[in-house]
Amino acid sequence: MNPQQAAAHLAFFRTVCGARGVRSTPQDQASYLEEPRGRFTGAALAVVLPGSTAEVAAVVQYAQTHGIAIVPQGGQTGLCGGALPDGSGRQIVLNLKRMRRVLALDPVEATVTVEAGCRLAEVQAAADAAGLWFPLSLASAGECQIGGNLATNAGGHNVLRYGNVRELCLGLEVVLADGRIWSDLKGLRKDNSGYDLKQLFIGAEGTLGVITAAILRLVPHPAQQVTAQVAVSDPAAALRLLGRLSGAVGEALTAFELMSAFSLELVARHFPDLPARQLETSPWSVLLELSGASSDAGLSDRLSQILDAALRAGEIRDAVVARNASQGARLWAVRNAIPDAQRREGPSIKHDIALPRARMAAFIGEMLPLLESRFPGVRPCVFGHLGDGNLHFNLSLPQGGDAQAFLDQRDALERLVHDRVVALGGSFSAEHGIGQLKRGEMARYKDAVTLDLMRTLKRALDPHDVMNPGKVLPDP
Ligand SMILES: Cc1cc2nc3c(=O)[nH]c(=O)nc-3n(C[C@H](O)[C@H](O)[C@H](O)COP(=O)(O)OP(=O)(O)OC[C@H]3O[C@@H](n4cnc5c(N)ncnc54)[C@H](O)[C@@H]3O)c2cc1C
Repeated sequence: MNPQQAAAHLAFFRTVCGARGVRSTPQDQASYLEEPRGRFTGAALAVVLPGSTAEVAAVVQYAQTHGIAIVPQGGQTGLCGGALPDGSGRQIVLNLKRMRRVLALDPVEATVTVEAGCRLAEVQAAADAAGLWFPLSLASAGECQIGGNLATNAGGHNVLRYGNVRELCLGLEVVLADGRIWSDLKGLRKDNSGYDLKQLFIGAEGTLGVITAAILRLVPHPAQQVTAQVAVSDPAAALRLLGRLSGAVGEALTAFELMSAFSLELVARHFPDLPARQLETSPWSVLLELSGASSDAGLSDRLSQILDAALRAGEIRDAVVARNASQGARLWAVRNAIPDAQRREGPSIKHDIALPRARMAAFIGEMLPLLESRFPGVRPCVFGHLGDGNLHFNLSLPQGGDAQAFLDQRDALERLVHDRVVALGGSFSAEHGIGQLKRGEMARYKDAVTLDLMRTLKRALDPHDVMNPGKVLPDP
């Protein structure tokens, strides 16, 4: 692309989105071209900030005609390099942050329709204002956008009860790779009239189209929530507790998080004001939450009885039930601080894995000694959504170790962890997606038929490969 062509493209984008909707200088683009962890950077012809679906459609149609690749971008919290352009400077970033209107809220249908650039926290606030609840809950809620959540099929703390965002989405509006607008914002809870097309775009990480709006399912606010932290000897005991709770309270169990002693030790060290020292002598802890629709559900007493029974049966070592909402929030603050505490501790190698829950304990029991024998001193920081069969199986730099020497072992460590996960019937990507980061794992672990089907869909919806090329699918 020569300078005249580049200038013509910029002029067109300015005509469509206005001068403030196009960032073309390195200073103005900088914050859009780097991922928070600093692992990926990119260069762009332009960062385009459309203000409406019509503007997105005009930009996408122009880009396809001129062979310009488009990288949809939300709040840049995906951490897999999926929302960043390559280093060529020929791609455009399409960030939807100006499209953040709540288009409709229907309390009878219990739905909210929003533009894709709405931050998750804004969607939650809109639901709250109507006396309803949007149960998608991520620590990144203040930055991530609902379009990014849908494009990554985000999970979070409440998946156990409410599912991933896929389960919370009733319809989408999408700008296709050729610039046409596909709209299905009816919000029907039942519609068997052909293929359920929205499912293609959810979790596609922007490789099949740009999500511009969504209609989302809301639920009643839980009238009562009880949070508890429970000390257990090992992950197998945590899973027994999960079974006991599920049997006793069913769907009232809304979160079940596992935390290793080391993950709590990091929080205690880096966030001394948080109550991470409770139960710290236990090798593993569970943070769990029960929610009830009616204020007289007596959940707190019910939970205490169940935990007493588990204690008497020798299944758990100790438990703290939060006496009120603010105590519960402080327990959650500890859990939510783990990723930051690990970052402050120094470099780490992260794995976002899923396994059948029944195999989780065997996996952890096998991996911890294996890692220590192959990589002496490595410090596993294991925590996450055990109730969903999803763990952050992260590895921190050995104490006093050389950071670069540790990071140089990334491939070997990933191979060890992911080979075992896949052999046990699990997945190397549970909720953070593939982006650029895990394309190699896609090539290694996905079977040929699956990859062939994915490529067939990609060709059908984006024959000129303009939608987020170089993401998700491995090179043929
Ligand atoms: C502290 C922290 C905690 C987190 N906790 C969780 C968690 O518990 N569960 C979880 O699932 N994730 C979690 N994440 C990861 C991240 O927040 C999610 O993946 C989130 O859904 C990404 O949204 P985003 O708007 O930041 O998307 P981005 O990072 O901007 O983009 C992610 C991908 O989506 C595509 N995309 C973005 N917007 C659109 C659009 N409108 N149309 C089409 N494609 C689009 C991009 O091209 C890219 O491929 C966490 C991240 C952080 C930093």
